[in-house]
Amino acid sequence: ATPTALMVGTGRGAQLGILIKGPEVLESTRRVDTVVLDKTGTVTAGRMRLRGALTAPGVDEQELLRLAGALEHASEHPIARAIADGAAERIGDLPAPADFRSEPGLGVQGTVDGHAVLVGREKLLGARAIELPADLAAAKAAAESEGRTAVAVAWDGEARGVLLVADAVKETSAEAVAQLRALGLTPILLTGDNRLVAEAVAREVGIDDVIAEVLPQDKVDVVKRLQSEGRTVAMVGDGINDAAALATADLGLAMGTGTDAAIESGDLTLVRGDLRVAADAIRLARRTLGTIK
Ligand code: ADP
Ligand code: MG
Repeated sequence: ATPTALMVGTGRGAQLGILIKGPEVLESTRRVDTVVLDKTGTVTAGRMRLRGALTAPGVDEQELLRLAGALEHASEHPIARAIADGAAERIGDLPAPADFRSEPGLGVQGTVDGHAVLVGREKLLGARAIELPADLAAAKAAAESEGRTAVAVAWDGEARGVLLVADAVKETSAEAVAQLRALGLTPILLTGDNRLVAEAVAREVGIDDVIAEVLPQDKVDVVKRLQSEGRTVAMVGDGINDAAALATADLGLAMGTGTDAAIESGDLTLVRGDLRVAADAIRLARRTLGTIK
């Protein structure tokens, strides 16, 4: 394509709500055959709310909310916001945590009112040899198969409960997936969240391929593996944990509603955070560079 065509393509992109880093980006956009979609904040709204609490025998629900809410107050994660806000709404002021530490893709730990508290994936607890009681584990799995994200809570070396948060799929996501498919692309859902939750979201938007329970630092390896299979990969993400994968993908599309780290790592920014615009971007690149498809 001529430089003029590329400039026109870039200008047209801005009108559609696509910020393109440089005209050369259109070339990689045109060749993409696989689109990896981050779940939280990309396919879903990323606005989670606390929807319920399950307690282990003998545990007071207020205490569960107080300790978990206090700890999550120190985290920026969308799940943490949901838990901290939900706990504060129900019980008012929360104590301040000490020795707060976040383990990306796993959860958080810290001290609240002298208790050593953990909130996060079962894996976070498992690494400290803490197991959920069987009833709680079964109730957690049932909630997850309905698309809820369930977070385990432990303190002083024992599992104490599970908090349920839910996030709605964006209204535009199913249509966006259909449009990407119509362009001949294979969509893949990629997330650090539980497999059951990921599959429920995938079903809702029409995605068949799910890669779940992936740690933030391993998302980039998923992209590399797909590339080694000969695919040309676009990655769409919003989080700080998507930044490396966005940079490694043949084409990185950042949600404009996402974190600065994601936006800096992407080749394209979807200004309004509307996934349908990912399909617009690919259509635009093909048209600008004169591919027939
Ligand atoms: P995604 O890939 O969907 O953007 P993340 O990689 O950020 O998700 O997180 C993966 C999982 O780790 C979450 O689904 C949750 O179970 C757990 N997790 C991460 N951070 C927290 C936190 N602050 N509190 C509780 N759980 C967390
Ligand atoms: Mg995300």
